[in-house]
Amino acid sequence: MKNIVLFGAPGSGKGTQSELLIEKYGFKHISTGDALRAEIKQGTELGKIAQGFINDGKLLPDDLIIKLLASVYDSMLPCEGIIFDGFPRTIPQAEALNEMLKERGETLSAMIELDVPEEELITRLILRGKSSGRADDNEATIRQRLEVYKQQTRPVSDWYEKEGSRHAIKGIGSLESIFADICKVVDAL
Ligand code: AMP
Repeated sequence: MKNIVLFGAPGSGKGTQSELLIEKYGFKHISTGDALRAEIKQGTELGKIAQGFINDGKLLPDDLIIKLLASVYDSMLPCEGIIFDGFPRTIPQAEALNEMLKERGETLSAMIELDVPEEELITRLILRGKSSGRADDNEATIRQRLEVYKQQTRPVSDWYEKEGSRHAIKGIGSLESIFADICKVVDAL
């Protein structure tokens, strides 16, 4: 079974590329952002906590998100592979992911990073906000999310580089060419 982290800033194309990977390889997909938005919709306790963090463009506490991730992961087994989208976003989350996989006799297959310049991210997220209906796709929250990304999430990229599992992909250009580059990494796993 393949366990693949699709990594990148908000707006880097993780969701779109995940959909293409699901279609081509039959993988399952865990988006912690989608899982939290579902909790909010259902009005659960976690949803109530999540709402404030999401609207402020801040990260949820690691322990809550790690617990959520493990329960969604277990609900998806058995399967050919799982793509992690929007997780891990902090080094403790990356460490917890390794630990969670180890406890289940699994390992991380690869971390694939979509590299997109910041101006392009802002343009894409503002455009997405016109149709996504997401409360956090407005300019002030977008800037806050990108700041959080720089401070808390970007160091995770170096962490994976040191682990030897990071594969960087240029995340600009056509969807198809970006997807082809991702497939080259996946096919070699
Ligand atoms: P996303 O849909 O991945 O952009 O996530 C939307 C929001 O959900 C983020 O801005 C955070 O508030 C929250 N969130 C999603 N994933 C995580 C995570 N791994 N750790 C902490 N907060 C998260």
